[in-house]
Amino acid sequence: MDYVGRIYRPPSEAHSLLLQVTLGCSHNRCVYCDMYRDKQFRPKPWETIEADLREAAAAGRKGFRSDKVFLCDGDALILGQRRLLQILAGIREHLPWVTRVGTYGDTRSVGRKSVEALGELRAAGLGIVYHGMETGSPAVLERIDKGGTRPELITMADKLRAAGLTHSVIVLLGIGGVALSQEHARETAEALTRMDPPFVGALTTTVVPGTPLWEMQTRGEFQLPSKFRMLEELREIVAHSEFSRCRFSSNHASNYVPLRGTLPQDKAAMLSVLDEIIARGDERLLKPEHLRRL
Ligand code: SF4
Repeated sequence: MDYVGRIYRPPSEAHSLLLQVTLGCSHNRCVYCDMYRDKQFRPKPWETIEADLREAAAAGRKGFRSDKVFLCDGDALILGQRRLLQILAGIREHLPWVTRVGTYGDTRSVGRKSVEALGELRAAGLGIVYHGMETGSPAVLERIDKGGTRPELITMADKLRAAGLTHSVIVLLGIGGVALSQEHARETAEALTRMDPPFVGALTTTVVPGTPLWEMQTRGEFQLPSKFRMLEELREIVAHSEFSRCRFSSNHASNYVPLRGTLPQDKAAMLSVLDEIIARGDERLLKPEHLRRL
């Protein structure tokens, strides 16, 4: 497979075929993100993608196959409709055993597409869009240069639902800093309630050297909340989000406490775990720093 640079995928795509159809991220400005700073965004040539599909097909015929494909890098949904349909048709042709294709998407990439265009992608095999929303707070969205507004987040969720695409939302504990911690948690819960996605994953902010967030921290403009304060944010989000039915998890490697449950029915149990850990305030109950990963 033609993999260029570091490759990232959501935790739930661990067993998927990773098909790199673009390099980098067309936005590449979120202040905390260092994933693609070494890559200039560009679509990969169709010939390269098709060669990867042929290679995966040959491996699949020998029994090495996955029924899921994840389109990399950080922003594949920004590609034009014609190229996306070409890729999805290529997957159907070369890998007929694939039942679901996933990609990252955000307010910019979904915002550019109509519900009809998204529905066309759905019909061609796209199944799930992973969306690094990070926060529902307008002030925090602006501070982290996320490139979207709160109304656009809501519209994005509505469009994906109308198109029949599964929406998996990622939120980032601690990204409001100490100053906007309460606002971040409260407004994230409000936005999630309005969006009502079927999947939410919480990650915990790590300030990565070399990122703008690192520089903000060095200048005293950002202070990461304490580990227990970030757990309180998680508690607030679980407590105040109202979902029809949502698989909510904090089992990403960056988190101090892995939780997984279905909301609303597991809300009381999840809150009880968090309340006990927060009340005890014992760091030995948290994942050790050396086991955390981005
Ligand atoms: S949109 Fe995603 S990949 Fe791009 S800079 Fe922001 S966090 Fe990083």
